Order: sequence, then structure tokens, then C-alpha cells
Amino acid sequence: MQNPCMGATQSCSACCGLFNLKGSDDERRDWIRRNTEEFLSLDISLAANIVNFRKEREAATLPHRVREDIYVCPFVGFVDSQRTGCLLHPQGSPHPQIGLWAHPQNFSFYGEGICLSYDCLAKERRVYRADFFLWAEKVSVFDYARLASDHTLHRALAALPDLPRDLSRFYSLLADLYRQRGVVTTSFEDVEKSLPETFAALCDFLARRIDASHAEKLAEKLAAAMG
Ligand code: SF4
Repeated sequence: MQNPCMGATQSCSACCGLFNLKGSDDERRDWIRRNTEEFLSLDISLAANIVNFRKEREAATLPHRVREDIYVCPFVGFVDSQRTGCLLHPQGSPHPQIGLWAHPQNFSFYGEGICLSYDCLAKERRVYRADFFLWAEKVSVFDYARLASDHTLHRALAALPDLPRDLSRFYSLLADLYRQRGVVTTSFEDVEKSLPETFAALCDFLARRIDASHAEKLAEKLAAAMG
């Protein structure tokens, strides 16, 4: 089973609040670039520089949350040319001075205890279908992350019998709809007590999450994209 948080070419960061930032994916990319450039330009041997970075980037970030109850972490950055990740990660940060700190994620809102130990509900359950990762190779890092973090989607698909082997049209449509309607996925949404038991019921569940006032039409579109 592949790791959905970080692969050779894709990464997620949904649990760090990536999709709770208002705006288009281009604006999201610009925000991550700016976090990265500003953080990499700091001398982080001085704790005050990291603390001030957090204060300043939070002031620019937090007023633009979709949901007030979900934090958006300004330490989300680009850890290479295309993958997002944690600028404070003790091994994964691209900052050359990160090794000066034994526990750099303690500069963040959640702290190292949560940042290092949190395991995405979808990943923890190891429920991804193989075609999901094949689809992910052809899409943007953001579309991949939108769906990778949706544990209800993957748990339901894994339990449904007799689905086509290739659901790429369905994944693409769902990612489009999540992007267009600003659906926030974090990977820690409540676990539903009972999962949709048919593909039609799953489409209905997803459609209500996307836009309850147009759920019937959206569910039909999603169902039609199955094969
Ligand atoms: S500090 Fe924690 S919440 Fe922030 S980007 Fe790193 S892992 Fe995510």
C-alpha cells in the first residue's frame, strides 16, 4: 500500500489545513510558495525569527479560512519542486538549518506531539484502491490531496462489490466538484457511523457534502461517471 501523505511525485497536507484556505488552486500555490520563500530566507538559529514568521504568516492566513474551526498552518511549504510538506519537519524540511533544533515542530500551533504522530484516517485504514494511485499520477498535487484525504470516500469504495476496475472518470469529476465548490477535506472529519452501502448511496452522500441544494443532479452526474 502506498503512503498517501507523500509519494515520489505527490503529497497531501490536507490535515495541515491546505483546503481550508479560501481561493483558487493558483492562489493556494502562491501562498505555499510565499511560505516557503520567506521561511527559507530566515536565519532559524534564532527562535525569534521562527516565532515572528509564524505570527506574520498567521496574520495573513487565518482571516482567509473557509471554516473558523479548522486551523491553516503557515508552515505548509514546498519541500521540493512540486510536493507540499512541512517546513518544520525534522527530516523533511528543505531549510538547511533545521537540524539545529531537536523538536522544530514545537514552533507550530499543534506541536510535535500531534504533527508527528497524527495518522490520516484514510491512510490508517489502508483502504485505497490501486486505480486511485494510477489516477493520481496524472492530476495536480491539489486534486490528489483533495481525494486522498477523504476517508469516507475510500472506505466506502473499498467495501463496495462489483465496481469497475478503473474509476478515473469518477475521481476526476469528484475532484473538479470539490475544487469548484470549495469543499474542505482535512482527513479528520467525523467518521460516519454507517457507510453508504451502494454506489448510488455514496454518490448521494458526496453530492450532499458538495452542495445540498443541488444534491439530486450532482449525485446523478457522479453516478454517470462510474464507468
Ligand atoms: S507544523 Fe504540523 S500542521 Fe504545520 S505543516 Fe508541519 S505537520 Fe502540518
